[in-house]
Amino acid sequence: MTALAHLKGIIFDMDGTLVDSGLDFAAMRSEMGLKAGIPILEQLVELPQDERRHKEEILHRHEMAGADRASLIDGADRLLEALAREGRPMAIVTRNSTPTTEHTLKRLGIGHYFDIVICREDGPHKPDPWAIEEICRRWRMEVDEVVMVGDYLLDLLSAQNAGCPSVLFTEGKPPEDVEGADIATHIATHFDQLYQLLAPVEDSI
Ligand SMILES: [Mg+2]
Repeated sequence: MTALAHLKGIIFDMDGTLVDSGLDFAAMRSEMGLKAGIPILEQLVELPQDERRHKEEILHRHEMAGADRASLIDGADRLLEALAREGRPMAIVTRNSTPTTEHTLKRLGIGHYFDIVICREDGPHKPDPWAIEEICRRWRMEVDEVVMVGDYLLDLLSAQNAGCPSVLFTEGKPPEDVEGADIATHIATHFDQLYQLLAPVEDSI
C-alpha cells in the first residue's frame, strides 16, 4: 500500500499543477492597478461594482490569453491516464473562471478525466473548503476519503480547512521554496512521486 492509496477520490488544482497556463500575475496586477502580495480575487471583492467589472474584464482577457497558450505540465497526461485506469473519480477545483477552465481543458484534451470541475463562479473559492465539501457530497464520501493536490498555499489551506489530506506538487522545485509547504500533509516534487503516493500498489508511470 502506498501512502494515499486508501483514498477514494482525487481532487486537483488546475493551473500550476496539471497545466502551465503561462499567466503573468505581475502583468495582470499591474494592468489592473492591484497590489502585490494579496490574491487578485480577494482584492476585486473589495472594489466598487463598476471598477470591479472593469478589472474583471482585464482579468478575463489575460486568463483567456493564458488558456490559448496553456500547455500540459510534462507528465500530467500519463499521470491522469494511469489514475483513470484505476477507476477512482477525479475532480478539479480552480480559482480560474468557468469559460477559461473549459477552454483550457478542451484545448489540452484532458476534460474527460474529471467528473466534477468547480470554478470560481460556482461558490466560495479556495482557501474556503466549500468546493472540497461539495465534491464529497456529490461523491458521497467523507472529507478524509479524498485528497487535494495543488501547487500553492491556497490549495493546501483549503484541504486543511476541509480536514482532508493534501499533496503539494512542486514540479521539481525544492519544497522549501514553495509557500505552504509546511501545511501540506504530503509533498511530491515530480509526477512519478505523486503517482507513487496515490497508486494502489507500488508502481510508477
Ligand atoms: Mg495552482
